[in-house]
This record gives sequence, structure tokens and C-alpha cells, in this order.
Amino acid sequence: MNSSYDNLYKKMILDFARQKENHRVIKDATAAERGHNPSCGDDLTLLIKEQDSIIVDASFWGEGCAISTASTNILIGLIKGKSVNEARKITDAFFKMMQNEELTEEDQGLLGDAVILQNTADMPARIKCSTLSWHALKMIIQKDEKN
Ligand code: ZN
Repeated sequence: MNSSYDNLYKKMILDFARQKENHRVIKDATAAERGHNPSCGDDLTLLIKEQDSIIVDASFWGEGCAISTASTNILIGLIKGKSVNEARKITDAFFKMMQNEELTEEDQGLLGDAVILQNTADMPARIKCSTLSWHALKMIIQKDEKN
């Protein structure tokens, strides 16, 4: 990846990290899962409000670095208004990307803005930041499917 692309992605990540509207507590959330990354200091809790298998609202609480915060804001933007099943597909595509697996066109469509995090897959110190909230979402979906 050349450096101008690299800078563009950095700028986009910072823009997503600065978004404030998702940093709030949903009082009647139906699920919450904490993501904690001691090596960086990220400590974010993902909150979801589900109604009839649709994620009608999502937010996060806590503090994290630019990458974990940006990743969480992107995640929320992607899953809000979607069914739990769609959120699971998006999550699967995200982990495929972070494991450097080949993505189908469908995967890329599902990932939307999350593709800007792809280059963090090759940074061992950063991958935990990128995937923190996605692990939390995966836990929420897995618990949901057991019920
Ligand atoms: Zn971090």
C-alpha cells in the first residue's frame, strides 16, 4: 500500500474516532458486552437494543484509542437497523478480512467503511484495537443464538 493511501486511511480512521453520537448509554439495552485490551488501554462496552431480531439501536461506553473507537463507530454504523442475522454476516466478513482471507464481493459489500481497517490486520499491536468491539458483538450474537 503506498503512503498516500495510508494517509487517507489514517485520516478516515481519525474522522470516525471523533464521532460522538454513538458514545452514550442506551438505558433499555437488551445486551452489553465489554471489550478490554490491557496492552493498549482500550476498555469499551458495546450496547445493543434488539427488537424482534432487529438491532434497533447500538452505542458504546468507555474509552479507547483512535483505532478501537473508530472501529466501534464503524461497527455501529453498519449494524444499526439490521437484523441479527445480517450483523452476524457482517461480523464473519470482518474477521475474514482481519485474518487476511480472500473476500467475496458480497463480503466487501457487507464491510462498507470497515475496509479502512484492513491494513491494521498486519500490525500485531493494532489488530486487538480493531477487533475489540467485533469480538464483543460476536459474543452478543452467540449468546442471542443460544436463546
Ligand atoms: Zn487500542
